[in-house]
Amino acid sequence: MIRVAITGAGGRMGRTLLEAIDENPLTALTVALERPDSSLIGVDAGELSGLGRLGIAVVGGLETVLQDFDVLIDFSTPAATAGVVAIAAAAGKALVIGTTGLDAAQQAVIDQAALRVPVCQAANFSTGVNLSLVLLETAARVLGDTADIEILEAHHRHKCDAPSGTALAMGQAVASVLGRDLQSVAVYGREGHTGPRERDTIGFATVRGGDIVGDHTVMFAADGERLEITHKASSRMAFARGAVRAAAWLAGRAPGHYGMRQVLGL
Ligand code: NAP
Repeated sequence: MIRVAITGAGGRMGRTLLEAIDENPLTALTVALERPDSSLIGVDAGELSGLGRLGIAVVGGLETVLQDFDVLIDFSTPAATAGVVAIAAAAGKALVIGTTGLDAAQQAVIDQAALRVPVCQAANFSTGVNLSLVLLETAARVLGDTADIEILEAHHRHKCDAPSGTALAMGQAVASVLGRDLQSVAVYGREGHTGPRERDTIGFATVRGGDIVGDHTVMFAADGERLEITHKASSRMAFARGAVRAAAWLAGRAPGHYGMRQVLGL
């Protein structure tokens, strides 16, 4: 049985992860972490997701529970991620990182950790999105030089980063195949007199509202035809199940930076 710790236990993904860990026969929750000043400290983690009493009280720091888990699954905030990753990696724990919107310094903490422990990081842990990345590479290879590429994404009103990490991963997949540098060709939203579209740009459009779990469309718009590859998540369990699968897959792996495509054998 793989002993799993989660950060952000009271968050939208944290509560869903509690269910996904419970459902997977290979994993057991042993540590649930929240902000040190959270009102949830001391609450039984099972009560956060309707699982009933698990006998695992939510804690406010990793230092006292480092002996109690094998892998840490983190879906929290970029600042929290950098902190827990450094502590867990120093203790030799495997890491599954789902938090998005990391800046370069926060990403560097994860890259450093991957020199020491196995790390699976993905902007999206769902099977469908990871399969769509493979499909996008094929579409870009066939259509990329003749079609305009635009990426549209929609998420719930609480999402703090834009465009989504998944939209950026999709843009990166397409840009890599076409030999374009995403940083240079990305256009984030348009307003006013923008002039005609430049050929090699990759456009991003963002919608925020309601309880949308996560929709992504990549459009290859050519003269006379248009291909759209769309993924729609209808439940956070799609991400949570993937993250728990990654946690089980990491057991016994060599240190390194892995992605969900490797976990899924894509
Ligand atoms: P959320 O509901 O805001 O949950 C974040 C949780 O982290 C909150 O409970 C928050 O507590 C807690 N937290 C904040 N600081 C902490 C700390 N120092 N230590 C421990 N916990 C801390 O957000 P969410 O919707 O679950 O999303 C979380 C992250 O996952 C986001 O970056 C999101 O983009 C990403 N995400 C990734 C995927 C994927 O497949 N990779 C899928 C969905 C979401 P407070 O509320 O008390 O501050």
